[in-house]
Amino acid sequence: MIQYKKQYDIVVAGAGVAGVAAALAAARHGKKVALLEKQCVIGGLATSGLVFIYLPLCDGMGRQCTFGIAEELLKLSMKYSPCDLPVAWGGPEGGFTGFNAGNRYQVIFSPAGFTIAMDGALQEAGVDLWLDTLVCAANTNGDGAIESIEVENLSGRGQLSAQCFIDTTGTAALARQAGGAVETMNNCHSPWIIEKSAGKTAYSLEPHLGIKYFRLCNNDNVVSDVLDAKTQTKYLRLTWEESRQFYDEAYANGDDRHTHYPIVLPGMSQLRKVGRIVGKTTLHDGENGKHFDDSIGLYADWRRSDSVWETPYGTLVPEKVRHLLAAGRCMSTENDAWEYFRVIPSAAMTGEVAGTAAALSVEAKCDPADLDVELLRNELRKNGFLFHLEELPGRRQ
Ligand SMILES: Cc1cc2nc3c(=O)[nH]c(=O)nc-3n(C[C@H](O)[C@H](O)[C@H](O)COP(=O)(O)OP(=O)(O)OC[C@H]3O[C@@H](n4cnc5c(N)ncnc54)[C@H](O)[C@@H]3O)c2cc1C
Repeated sequence: MIQYKKQYDIVVAGAGVAGVAAALAAARHGKKVALLEKQCVIGGLATSGLVFIYLPLCDGMGRQCTFGIAEELLKLSMKYSPCDLPVAWGGPEGGFTGFNAGNRYQVIFSPAGFTIAMDGALQEAGVDLWLDTLVCAANTNGDGAIESIEVENLSGRGQLSAQCFIDTTGTAALARQAGGAVETMNNCHSPWIIEKSAGKTAYSLEPHLGIKYFRLCNNDNVVSDVLDAKTQTKYLRLTWEESRQFYDEAYANGDDRHTHYPIVLPGMSQLRKVGRIVGKTTLHDGENGKHFDDSIGLYADWRRSDSVWETPYGTLVPEKVRHLLAAGRCMSTENDAWEYFRVIPSAAMTGEVAGTAAALSVEAKCDPADLDVELLRNELRKNGFLFHLEELPGRRQ
């Protein structure tokens, strides 16, 4: 039974990096925006998932590809963190870059610091943030358009109406609730832990924080089952088992539990590609360097240099459900293309695009699927966006 009702212009489901960027963009366009998050922290995998590397905004050839809120959030991630940018991207000589891949425009950060910094930005933009609020149902009309969603929180069951919704749940949960097609794929499970350690760990923020990050990533442990609640539980517990084995072995080899022990476990499932929408367009392997007429931003591969993707608007638009956009790791990409796009900078970029597109759709009283992409690009251009490869200065064609 619905116990309360609220009305917004735009409702964003999931306050990971994509959701924060979407809400900021929509609110800065003067819209009344709700941002809903089932946890008690914002930032998703980038914060409660203990991921702490803001992957690059540049192509590894000295050219910045991604701009706007993605760059703003990268800088915000440093605000309450001890880490600096490489000199080539404006960092100080002798700065603390920690783990950093050469001279790419990327940074490591404190997840807790990033959380409080993003919250400051949301407050300033006037976003109505709801924490500890689970999006649990979508109400659609006969045309497959979402009219309202239902949430569960301390106030009970609520109904939130809006003209446009954005799925930034990381798992395409809202699209699925609305009857849209959702796909998954193989994953590997990998516990990232913050630990106290006197020994060697993968990536370290020491000496500034006096703690170390520890990453156990076994890419052989491929999760090939179809992901459901019990399968996810099974793999989460497997990561704890691996952690037990890691510490048991360390102690057997002489480490002391007084100086080497886990401090924080991730609060989110560390499966990377859980669920994504089936969009009007799906990005496939090898489509880096390909021209898309409806590109809404450039995004550089984080695994290799000189490999840039145009991002079709259609990857954010679900094939079936209306009044809905998706952004972040649940946008429509598959296989290796999903692997490239599932990370923090692309989540921020696509979040900004979705938030801006939602705001323009509300103004134009149209479905986001019917939005004039040139209108959207004109708006994004104001925030520095580039859309096609030939716009990158000095790039070979
Ligand atoms: C082990 C691992 C290592 C990684 N390493 C890196 C790295 O080094 N660098 C990098 O850039 N990226 C890395 N990534 C990927 C990256 O962190 C994430 O993919 C990215 O942060 C995704 O952002 P997002 O906003 O799309 O989704 P998410 O971070 O998943 O955010 C979704 C949010 O929605 C909320 N939510 C979900 N369902 C609901 C619901 N029904 N109601 C309300 N709220 C809901 C979730 O609680 C969450 O806060 C890594 C990922 C993993 C798993």
